[in-house]
Amino acid sequence: ALALTACGDDSSDNTGSSSSSGSSEGGSADGKIGVILPDTESSVRWESADRPALEAAFKEAGVQYSIQNAEGDAEKMTTIADGMIADGVTVLAIVNLDSESGAAIEEKAASQGVKTIDYDRLTLGGSADYYVSFDNTKVGELQGEGLATCLGDKDANIVYLNGSPTDNNATLFSEGAHSVLDEMSNYKVVGEQAVPDWDNEQAVTIFEQLYTAADGAVDGVLAANDGLGGSAISVLQKNGKAGSVPVTGQDATVEGLQNILAGTQCMTVYKSAKLEAGALADTAIALVNGEEADTTGTTEDSEGGRDVPSILLDPVSITKDNVGDVISDGGQSYADVCTGEF
Ligand code: BGC
Repeated sequence: ALALTACGDDSSDNTGSSSSSGSSEGGSADGKIGVILPDTESSVRWESADRPALEAAFKEAGVQYSIQNAEGDAEKMTTIADGMIADGVTVLAIVNLDSESGAAIEEKAASQGVKTIDYDRLTLGGSADYYVSFDNTKVGELQGEGLATCLGDKDANIVYLNGSPTDNNATLFSEGAHSVLDEMSNYKVVGEQAVPDWDNEQAVTIFEQLYTAADGAVDGVLAANDGLGGSAISVLQKNGKAGSVPVTGQDATVEGLQNILAGTQCMTVYKSAKLEAGALADTAIALVNGEEADTTGTTEDSEGGRDVPSILLDPVSITKDNVGDVISDGGQSYADVCTGEF
């Protein structure tokens, strides 16, 4: 039963994402783009998917760039931003660790004539010229719909394991999921908590507490990403419930896809790093050239009282039936997902 759409048929193989680190430069176009990734712990995506996709997009555009990682430390992000500004970047893109520190970085950049872009996470009260991301409410809706499909018509107690309270996306994911699941009168929320910094270890403790508080009467878990899903699955495993209690996820990580193939995870959400990095590169290059970037609309920043010009991409729901789509799209490699076990 494990030799599903993805494994056992390597016709859709490709090299997939590989990890790289450090900053690099190259290209010939005027201007220089700085990107600061948030951490290495909240999701493997930043280093394993976003960094290589960003490098490829900037190289193809022939523009100089520097990509660094703040390692989960807002002070470090500020120091990196200062360094990039001193180094003469024309455009600075950040994945903020919290809106307050992100807004301060953007304000300082603007005061030095540096354009800024919010990458993936909107900085509330910030001043970014553009916001490049996915439709994050839609991500939450896909998670809610996916969980409902796995649960079916029966009565079910649901626990929510939400993302970091400082991440605007986490709010949108949860809102999107609630908008779907709250409509179903047969479902009941029996626990819900945000996980600080999306920390997978804390998530184990938090989920264990929620599970115990519900006397183990948990039928489904709305986990905001694959890492948090993995945390919930490990607790369910200990209680002999892994596989019978559906768990959601996000990011189409190797771990998430393998859990889907093993039947312990119900679904994940695939957000192509190639598309998001490509949109960031296009937007940054427009800014470098003093042009306006193409947008899909605006996003309301309720705190800043402004509408931020945005490029919002379409997330894709992944279940057992279409794991192979992530591989054929280059989101992961066949070799990474289909290890001996799968
Ligand atoms: C991103 C997710 C990611 C999470 C943790 C969110 O802002 O949209 O893809 O899993 O942060 O890094």
